[in-house]
Amino acid sequence: MTLGEFDLIDRHFRRPYPQRNDIPVGIGDDAAVVVPTAGQELVVTTDVLNEGVHFPPGTPAKAIGHKALAVNLSDLAAMGAQPRWFTMTLSLVRANDDWLASFTEGLFALADQHDIALIGGDTVSGPLSIGIQAMGEVPKGGALRRAGAQPGDRILVSGTIGDAALALQGIQQGEDQPVLRERLEWPQPRIALGQALRGLATSCIDLSDGLCADLGHILEASGCAATINSNQVPLSEAYRKSAGDNVLPALTGGDDYELCFTVPADSVVDLDELSAELELPLTEIGTIKEGSGLTVLDDYGQSIPLPHPGYEHFGDAGE
Ligand code: ADP
Ligand code: MG
Repeated sequence: MTLGEFDLIDRHFRRPYPQRNDIPVGIGDDAAVVVPTAGQELVVTTDVLNEGVHFPPGTPAKAIGHKALAVNLSDLAAMGAQPRWFTMTLSLVRANDDWLASFTEGLFALADQHDIALIGGDTVSGPLSIGIQAMGEVPKGGALRRAGAQPGDRILVSGTIGDAALALQGIQQGEDQPVLRERLEWPQPRIALGQALRGLATSCIDLSDGLCADLGHILEASGCAATINSNQVPLSEAYRKSAGDNVLPALTGGDDYELCFTVPADSVVDLDELSAELELPLTEIGTIKEGSGLTVLDDYGQSIPLPHPGYEHFGDAGE
């Protein structure tokens, strides 16, 4: 069944806002009205997912709904923000009721988990594309930044790295690896971790383009160099089964949506408790140094040449 634009919005996107008194005007007017919390700063981010660029054709609608919001929540996590409101621009080839029902199931399950409300958007016809703008809040001056890493700080990552990149490689080669694909399609934004790192981490970024590329952004913003040990990069069992001890996909592949952050050396011990509380591994992978650039060492302490630092749209690699 296909729906008109307004039926579609009413049926799939308009929901009541129980337990929220910060949205006096939501979906249905020309714009939404929200009430920011006194003493907090607004953190705003946007990310778009296009079919064929950010997810392969054939990705289940429910996973697309999840991921479109997850990648935005991941940016809020990297800033240490509490998610609050989001808007969504949806471009659809056709308005298929079943597809939309699955899409919003994935979208709203994640939204409810993090208490973020859909307050408006735009719906147009065109190639499948989902643009979300997410808004969150942090206490004044409390946002985590890419700048701030200091020589001597330790570099850590959450979770395990590289599964999504291997899954994508597998799909492109016609192999199905369900455990890895789950990581590609259902990334978990590290909201609780980001908030816990406020006042503790000296810098933070979420891993969307690849560990080396994203850590490179921290180094550039902080005016520092870093050395990481490839054998400390946390790999999942599924990763090792698929790629053995080849760590390159974990270093250069994107779409992990884990956090990479730095803390002063004497704060590393404080992270054990946090890791246990969040049931999320936090693994030290290297150290911030003076200078510029990233060095990745192999098991023998030799520097690994990196063929391609991460995904770039319009990059020379022709992607
Ligand atoms: P306008 O023409 O005034 O810009 P629209 O007709 O585009 O408004 O949208 C009607 C209402 O539905 C607005 O409140 C808008 O925010 C909301 N809306 C439209 N598309 C979406 C969407 N994809 N998700 C959430 N809300 C939407
Ligand atoms: Mg209007």
